[in-house]
Amino acid sequence: MSFNTLGLSEALLKAISKKGYTNPSPIQQKAIPPILEGQDVLASAQTGTGKTAGFTLPLLHLLSENPKQKYRPIRALILTPTRELAAQVYANVREYSEFLNLRSAVIFGGVNQKPQVANIRSGIDILVATPGRLIDLENQRLLSLKRVEILVLDEADRMLDMGFLRDIERIMSMMPAKRQNLMFSATFSKDIRKLAHGILNHPVQVEATPENSTVDAINQKVYRVAKGLKTGLIIKLISDGSWKQVLVFTRTKHGANKLCKKMIGSGISAAAIHGNKSQGARTKALAGFKNGSVRVLVATDIAARGLDIPLLPHVVNFELPNISEDYVHRIGRTGRAGASGEAISLVSADETTYLRDIEKLVGMRLPVEIVEGFEPDPNASTEPVKQSQGRSRNSRNNNRNSNANSSNKDRHSSNRRPKRNTNRKSSDRRR
Ligand code: AMP
Repeated sequence: MSFNTLGLSEALLKAISKKGYTNPSPIQQKAIPPILEGQDVLASAQTGTGKTAGFTLPLLHLLSENPKQKYRPIRALILTPTRELAAQVYANVREYSEFLNLRSAVIFGGVNQKPQVANIRSGIDILVATPGRLIDLENQRLLSLKRVEILVLDEADRMLDMGFLRDIERIMSMMPAKRQNLMFSATFSKDIRKLAHGILNHPVQVEATPENSTVDAINQKVYRVAKGLKTGLIIKLISDGSWKQVLVFTRTKHGANKLCKKMIGSGISAAAIHGNKSQGARTKALAGFKNGSVRVLVATDIAARGLDIPLLPHVVNFELPNISEDYVHRIGRTGRAGASGEAISLVSADETTYLRDIEKLVGMRLPVEIVEGFEPDPNASTEPVKQSQGRSRNSRNNNRNSNANSSNKDRHSSNRRPKRNTNRKSSDRRR
């Protein structure tokens, strides 16, 4: 199937061809037609499937078809859980709208609001936002959502995981009831269906990949290893395999820093990205990783969400996530849009339960290898790792905070704030 058959405008086809895309991905083939018809859509799409273009292209088409307003009220709102994803989606919106008369802006916490406000004031059609900063600016009456025609909730499952439900409900109340709603989620849990039921109006349901399945192109492998030998093993794998671009997941921020230091100590260029890092440090680390000056990016789950690194060849789980769905999100960083990739997990005895849960979720046994000199400890306990080392499997929302990034901080400050708070300085200080 070619993009020409989807009914997108010439200006959009030109932008698509400039990006180098030849054919629409499965999620794009399924989601674009109903969105163009003006229907609400509930889409299940993993990271790396091309979902961003799946909603952005038809959204831009619809906005450019409608008569231009004299001044530019915000006509489309794209909500994302994290700053990184917001920045990435915004970059896509900019690229795809290059040949259209549409303006866009992005807002998120952790940075000065002034330039963001100035941008909005100049008149924009599309706003990409994280919930905290959006509510903050609306509270200050610096933006209005009263003219929104299209709402996109991107990575809705992650928004719920991060405890944004109340913020989402509040944002809904700021918009007109009559609008087109699009919800994208990697997983279709009961909570997501409930949220969808409250927001979407007779949605068309599209699913590009089976629920919680991992992308076929990803070669998954487990190395059984003693806990204390993991650092040595990962350094050996990276060095022996001459891996050039590796994304490594740790369960904690402290763990990310520690591993990063060890890598650098062994002569492997590495950077860590997590909630305690400033936005500037995160952007720098990501830019270095993309341009090849940083070989290994060590990340925690929330910080890594939304990173757009095309054709990432290697993802390593230095520790398995204690929430099985996170495994699917993590390995979705490789094998993006048809490229092949490798996802490796270093598993010690105390992670055995997590491994079984993951295998249940993805519906397959993962092949296991043992490297000579890095054998598992036969005497180690298979009792799961203590709760303090990661997030609880049963109370995700509360414990997400142990790994919180600024988006979580946004959430707390916005929840605390009274509805029409104009005390800008105090709210800024909290960020
Ligand atoms: P996403 O799932 O939106 O994060 O997209 C994953 C990656 O696939 C991004 O690097 C996109 O630029 C790329 N991509 C999106 N649509 C296509 C397409 N039709 N053909 C090739 N690559 C694409």
